[in-house]
Amino acid sequence: MIELKNISYHYPDSTAAIDDICFSVSEGEKLVVAGANGAGKSTLFLLLNGILKPRKGDYFFDGKKTGYSKRELLALRQQVGIVFQEPDSQLFSASVYEEVAFGPLNMELSRDEVRQLVDSTLAALDIESLKDRPPHLLSYGQKKRVAIASVLAMNPRIIIFDEPTAGLDPAHAAEIIVLLEKLHKAGKTIIISTHDMNFAYQWAGRMVVLHKGRVVGEGTPNEVFANE
Ligand code: ADP
Ligand code: ADP
Repeated sequence: MIELKNISYHYPDSTAAIDDICFSVSEGEKLVVAGANGAGKSTLFLLLNGILKPRKGDYFFDGKKTGYSKRELLALRQQVGIVFQEPDSQLFSASVYEEVAFGPLNMELSRDEVRQLVDSTLAALDIESLKDRPPHLLSYGQKKRVAIASVLAMNPRIIIFDEPTAGLDPAHAAEIIVLLEKLHKAGKTIIISTHDMNFAYQWAGRMVVLHKGRVVGEGTPNEVFANE
């Protein structure tokens, strides 16, 4: 479904954050991207949904090479949703309703269709009662759910979760893990980054290990941990 061929990216002021990597994602995968802080995980995620454009290399989505036109970027952002680690970085609307409606309103749906979509997404995450509240005043756990809802409402085929359980207590982390399972069962392709190797080992179908912007390990959790 996704194929990156020899992709490199460096930030304006720095060395390569992603250095000549080949990376693929298949439909329905449960993929963990592992690696220390600074390994390039977030940069890879921003490349996957087109927020960043590679300096070198090609990006194929469903076999088609992206040319980074406005239309292609819109499609990429709709198909590949990212839930960032810090919910504050993706919440900017005046109410939870508007926050979750923001994506669908850009998707050529009628007002009624948008309303139905937002309502059902809020219900799925059990946050209907927060509808009229300003997101920035919610608790951390509530913000996290609103951020997830705003991504789900776009109906992406791939959902990326950057450190989904970091900073959560075990009960809230368990809730997120249940949600990941539910989304996967509903047909979503899930990519996560995590520092929690026990969780990665149990959950991942495949792991990709990054180090200094390069892929240094790849395979099933058993294969990857056997080579540690
Ligand atoms: P990870 O998500 O694995 O912690 P990142 O993708 O955030 O890794 O970072 C990869 C490299 O790029 C690091 O060396 C980091 O310092 C650098 N980097 C990340 N974001 C920026 C930025 N906005 N400007 C400059 N350098 C950055
Ligand atoms: P809820 O309202 O969904 O019960 P809470 O805000 O009470 O959620 O807490 C959810 C989890 O997030 C808790 O495990 C808490 O320790 C953690 N948490 C709360 N605030 C922060 C924060 N600013 N940064 C990281 N973790 C936080």
